[in-house]
Amino acid sequence: MNPTKEPSFRESVDLMFNHAVALMDLPPGLEEKIRVCNATYTVRFGVRLRGQLHTFTGYRSVHSEHMEPVKGGIRYALAVNQDEVEALAALMTYKCALVEAPFGGSKGGLCIDPREWDEHELEQITRRFSYELIKRDLIHPSQNVPAPDMGTGEREMAWIADQYNRMNTTDINSRACVTGKPPHAGGIAGRVEATGRGVQYALREFFRHPEDIAAAGLSGTLDGKRVIVQGLGNVGYHAAHFLTVEDGAKIIGIVERDGGLYSETGLNVEAVAKWIRAHGGVKGCTEGTYVEDASSLLEEDCDILIPAAIEGVINLGNVERVKAPLIIEAANGPVTAGADAFLRERGTVIIPDMYANAGGVTVSYFEWVKNLSHIRFGRMQRRQEEARHQLVVDQLEDLSNALGKTWSPAPDFKEKYLRGADELELVRSGLDDTMRVAYQSMREVWHGRDDVTDLRTAAYLVSIGRVAESYRAKGL
Ligand code: GLU
Repeated sequence: MNPTKEPSFRESVDLMFNHAVALMDLPPGLEEKIRVCNATYTVRFGVRLRGQLHTFTGYRSVHSEHMEPVKGGIRYALAVNQDEVEALAALMTYKCALVEAPFGGSKGGLCIDPREWDEHELEQITRRFSYELIKRDLIHPSQNVPAPDMGTGEREMAWIADQYNRMNTTDINSRACVTGKPPHAGGIAGRVEATGRGVQYALREFFRHPEDIAAAGLSGTLDGKRVIVQGLGNVGYHAAHFLTVEDGAKIIGIVERDGGLYSETGLNVEAVAKWIRAHGGVKGCTEGTYVEDASSLLEEDCDILIPAAIEGVINLGNVERVKAPLIIEAANGPVTAGADAFLRERGTVIIPDMYANAGGVTVSYFEWVKNLSHIRFGRMQRRQEEARHQLVVDQLEDLSNALGKTWSPAPDFKEKYLRGADELELVRSGLDDTMRVAYQSMREVWHGRDDVTDLRTAAYLVSIGRVAESYRAKGL
């Protein structure tokens, strides 16, 4: 296949959109309105660092405002460009619609290699970039709510929240201007693990449907499945960790920037993650066998391939050699439109990005609601559970008295009883529920229509349908 024929990331998203929309009956005007990016703001700003003025380029793209605020992360990477943020913003629109998070789609990015700057410098750069976005309502609790993405995390979100607060001292909802904040700065339990957790919950849901498992040519459960993960960053790490520890999957390959690790018997994810944290890559790690040509690991025989890094890693250049029967897109856009068409034809099952990595924005939604409600997530539930727990204890005491027996609760009874009302437990169960419902909405279309042969097209049909609905409701 000819890799030079590859479209850009945004074109790739549009091609997939077009493939789905051709199966719908939308008025052409509305189709176009949904597809295009509403606006992209580009800013170039200077920050005096190391005795010299450095100019940085940043973007915030708003794809669709059918619901507000619009939502999506801010990425820090040298390769950030307008085409990329627009593609990512479009994916946010479809992702939010699919998991019914009531947001439009947006995305931001800054052309920077965060590893080149120390913490204090990064803070100055982040505050300056946020200042530019806040001034234009491109960061605002009811207009545009960023979150972490590649190269950013809790720390950057805390700086952004603080910057917004400084510029809007009277806004009682200022904490809701950004999600993915640290717990002590208005964040929510389970946000850091959320995207990886979502990947795990997505796979668990997939493996609950024998028909779907068979469509991928697999059988059985997640237990013992041979998995290759590309990118052991926040998303890849949490997915790999939970899948091994809780579901018995075996991570046989890990692909990183500087090489890969392979072991047919399974890699120790913790040990590899620790090595990467200390050395910045996998080279020299004694877990499994080191593979210099990391990309060849994407083509290795396995049951499940999890691309969890950047876009375009499965493309016309390598798709013919990719053997995995099941691919779950933890990253945004890891499979190009051309590769997607090839895999669809071949019958490889792809659990698409807009669903597979929606765990992050789902928990962001919980955080945003928590910030706006000004109450700890689950506080009400906890009060109810405490009352219920007391009722159970009283009744058991009455019953044992009536039987002439003595009964007292086990020492950890109350703790166990109330665990379900913990913020972390509530977040996890809310996320699990979201992932199950969204999967079922996709699979209904996948199996219910003769003209739909893959989950991605089904996902687009569901989400475009919902976006179109809300445009119609607005009278457009
Ligand atoms: N950056 C993440 C994504 O691509 C999270 C976005 C959010 O939480 O708003 O979905």
